[in-house]
Amino acid sequence: GSAVLRCSGCGAPLQTEDPAGIGYIPMLKEEGAQICRRCFRIKNYNEVASVAVNQDEFLRMLGQIGDRKALVIHIVDLFDFEGSVITGLQRFVGSNPVILAVNKIDLLPKVTNWNKVRNWVQKQSKELGLKTEEIILCSAKKNIGFDRLLQEVADRRGDRDVYVVGATNVGKSTLINRLITDYSDLDEELTVSRYPGTTLDMVNIPLDDGHYIVDTPGIVYPSRYTELVTPGDLVKIMPEKPLKPAVYQLNEGQTLFIGGLARFDFIAGEHQSFTFYTSGTLKLHRTKLGRADELYAEHVGEMLTPPSREHMEDLPAWTRHEFRVPKGGAQDLFISGLGWIRANGQSGAKVAVHAPKGVKVIMRGSLV
Ligand code: GDP
Repeated sequence: GSAVLRCSGCGAPLQTEDPAGIGYIPMLKEEGAQICRRCFRIKNYNEVASVAVNQDEFLRMLGQIGDRKALVIHIVDLFDFEGSVITGLQRFVGSNPVILAVNKIDLLPKVTNWNKVRNWVQKQSKELGLKTEEIILCSAKKNIGFDRLLQEVADRRGDRDVYVVGATNVGKSTLINRLITDYSDLDEELTVSRYPGTTLDMVNIPLDDGHYIVDTPGIVYPSRYTELVTPGDLVKIMPEKPLKPAVYQLNEGQTLFIGGLARFDFIAGEHQSFTFYTSGTLKLHRTKLGRADELYAEHVGEMLTPPSREHMEDLPAWTRHEFRVPKGGAQDLFISGLGWIRANGQSGAKVAVHAPKGVKVIMRGSLV
């Protein structure tokens, strides 16, 4: 028949096209029980893998959480806060409590004022209309903040199921795998089971205390640079090590290229400093504003790289975003997935950021 073949683990429709999507299987047999790669890895390696869904599918899934008694762990990436935060979350989770786990704090410079960061996150999430019971700064990679997170979960869960939700690449799998290693009985096979009544696969992770944590697919936000680049360039734009801010003393009429991925123009204002918070693997190139178009046309894909020449065409054309940085109080010019430029605000400035159409570019109060 032509019935859709489903994963016998999670129930997702099986497909061979999209390795990052749900229900992916390298080879599909025409009949018989088969499981998707994600479930295979959980069963055989006790390890969750990242899978992604589009916004519509994700919102449908969130709606299901709203109908349950849930405790939601909303995980965001501190390096791409505005890009990874799920702004619509509150509408969907209903009255269920939410813990905001702010991941990748290891990327901020060692000397960071963490109280300031915490206040900053609190202010931003309030402005976005998020109601959070607790904000936990953490690093899934460096194992920071997990005892706190687990303590909060234990204190607040009652008889609720715990759902972990997040955008792609925020570190959700790393976090859950950390929980599996530290807090679950590894001798036991992880269960792969579908919640009754759910239409999308969620994976139950049993912890030592007899409770479960539920992994959900990551949401794809097309406004993040990380969703636009090739896998090869992705590792170049996502910082691995703590950021080493690069300070530039600039005069008006100067431009800086971030590889060939974006461009910052200091259009008008007194001589002042700007600080670049981008992956250390990206080279910054300074030039005159008047020469910037020409330099880009001549050197993108070569000196100004990534992107490479062969992948340039895959990126949308640039949009120019102009901002007036007010005097007093530092501001960040934030480029979702790529980082930010801090305008130190000693005096006012007129600036512009060029980035591919669709990538979120905003001015915000400075994070650090
Ligand atoms: P998911 O798509 O949300 O499941 O994200 P992954 O767990 O697959 O992680 C995405 C990328 O972020 C990987 O390259 C991870 O190594 C990296 N990552 C995850 N957690 C952290 C963290 O705490 N700090 C840093 N610097 N990188 C992290």
